[in-house]
Amino acid sequence: MIHHDILIVGAGLAGMRAALAAPPHLSVAVLSKVHPVRSHSVAAQGGINAALGDKDSWDAHAFDTTKGGLYLGDQDGIETMCREGPGDILELERMGVIFSRDDQGRIAQRPFGGAGFPRACYAADRTGHAILHALYEQLMKRGLKVYEEWYVTALMVEDGVCRGVIAWDILHGGLHALSAKAVILATGGSSRVFLTSTNAVINTGDGMGLAYRAGVPLKDMEFVQFHPSTLKNTGILITEGARGEGGYLLNTLGERFMKHYAPEQMELATRSTVSLAIGREIAEGRGVEGCVLLDLRHLGRERILERLPQIRQLSLDFAGVDPVESPIPVRPGAHYQMGGVSTNQWTETDIAGLFAAGECACVSVHGANRLGGNSLLETVVFGRRAGQRAGEYAETVNWHNPSGSFLRDEQSRLQRLVRRKGQVWAWELLGELGEAMNQNLGIFRTRASMANAQETIQLLKDRTRGLTLRDKGQTFNTDLIQAQELGFLLDVAETIVAGSLAREESRGAHYRQDFPRRDDANWLKHTLASWSSTGPNLSYTPVKITRFPPK
Ligand SMILES: Cc1cc2nc3c(=O)[nH]c(=O)nc-3n(C[C@H](O)[C@H](O)[C@H](O)COP(=O)(O)OP(=O)(O)OC[C@H]3O[C@@H](n4cnc5c(N)ncnc54)[C@H](O)[C@@H]3O)c2cc1C
Repeated sequence: MIHHDILIVGAGLAGMRAALAAPPHLSVAVLSKVHPVRSHSVAAQGGINAALGDKDSWDAHAFDTTKGGLYLGDQDGIETMCREGPGDILELERMGVIFSRDDQGRIAQRPFGGAGFPRACYAADRTGHAILHALYEQLMKRGLKVYEEWYVTALMVEDGVCRGVIAWDILHGGLHALSAKAVILATGGSSRVFLTSTNAVINTGDGMGLAYRAGVPLKDMEFVQFHPSTLKNTGILITEGARGEGGYLLNTLGERFMKHYAPEQMELATRSTVSLAIGREIAEGRGVEGCVLLDLRHLGRERILERLPQIRQLSLDFAGVDPVESPIPVRPGAHYQMGGVSTNQWTETDIAGLFAAGECACVSVHGANRLGGNSLLETVVFGRRAGQRAGEYAETVNWHNPSGSFLRDEQSRLQRLVRRKGQVWAWELLGELGEAMNQNLGIFRTRASMANAQETIQLLKDRTRGLTLRDKGQTFNTDLIQAQELGFLLDVAETIVAGSLAREESRGAHYRQDFPRRDDANWLKHTLASWSSTGPNLSYTPVKITRFPPK
């Protein structure tokens, strides 16, 4: 059996930052279903927040984050992120991240929605790319072990302690048990549960499903962020940085309609506010072919080429529009999971030896609505904390050899799947799931729409019993992987729906037409969804409020 002190599942920003923070004398390995620099973090465009400016402060950042999250975020975690953030950004710079610069040569910062200061540090509109590559270089410099293209199918949890993972070697085929004193989940988001999403096809909520099945509750899963501006048809992201640089949103009347919804913040109101506004404009007939228009023309060619080169290229390639000359058709799309594996602010879960950080985790710092630029910050602050805390833990516990039954059970489960004959394909069920979520759990939700989705999910789960693979081989069997991803997405979907149906209020990204108001008296609390054989069991836990009483 393979053994490491610390095993990190996921090589995005959270996973790699954790690996670099773990004590160097321990045996640390990273495992990823794709090459590390293909993790979705690479696609992050607009920026990473930190209160670096002379007039800014981490308190102000904490306040904006709390308010932007509609007071559902735990304020102790938010304070930690905002206080430690500036140090983490400087550390990234020392590691070699090529941030864009202002006139004085300092790290440049642009305004983002819901922020009182220009606080988003950026590298043009390729921020995630710049940071991810710098971290990967550091990983190689340290010579850390990376299991590239290995796919984790299950956790090994014995007597309430996590003892490692079971993983499939995608390239060569074959299941392996990897034991570890500490496992950190850093598997990213789950927005592929929707048919159209800004997320990479690999963002299938695997880590959330792994933890959920092992008995860790998923927190606040009903809060899925719809980004206001994704490209027509493809759902490709057009960064908030485009509005941060001064872009306008127009309806079919040529009107900057945000003046009716957020007259002060206009296009830089929080994402949930802007998405709802766009949704209303389209629903009330003031859209343009199911979209609104994002106009950058007044910024001028030079500024667009310097600050938003990727946005221009994406618009040209995928919408046939040059933003220098014409407005870009955009509409809201599924983007980010505010909820996730429930952890404390040291990334610890309810299972000893199991930690989670990054988008797959819910500390929670984003509450009901994440501010742009806070997710990248979360990955580096809490990724580092995960590496540190898992390191401390691994140094104090003794090594246990996990039972061989974990591997045998997974082997027979996969063998049954490979041998099964039938006509039920994972891609088909994935499409139906995504369509049902798109139709019924978008920016506007009602009891009837969600009940519809719940029924569809149940039917899809029943049909997975007949799931069949076309590819019966060992090597690069993407059919096999997709079948596992489908299972995790169904787990994620049922927790989103259960949490949404139960929460009879509107808050941030969760907007119910049948309960349009925020209800602090009854709903200022976190949802916890725990696995059971008949579907998620819901319970609730209080929000931690330190300095900012809900307003
Ligand atoms: C298009 C886009 C633009 C964005 N722009 C911004 C922005 O400008 N600012 C901001 O703050 N946020 C932004 N976000 C959000 C932010 O990028 C993500 O939340 C963040 O990068 C997630 O990082 P992560 O390390 O948690 O996960 P990821 O980077 O998604 O990495 C997940 C890792 O887990 C691995 N993995 C998953 N499942 C398994 C498994 N079963 N077995 C093995 N490995 C597995 C994957 O291979 C991958 O290495 C953006 C998101 C998108 C989609």
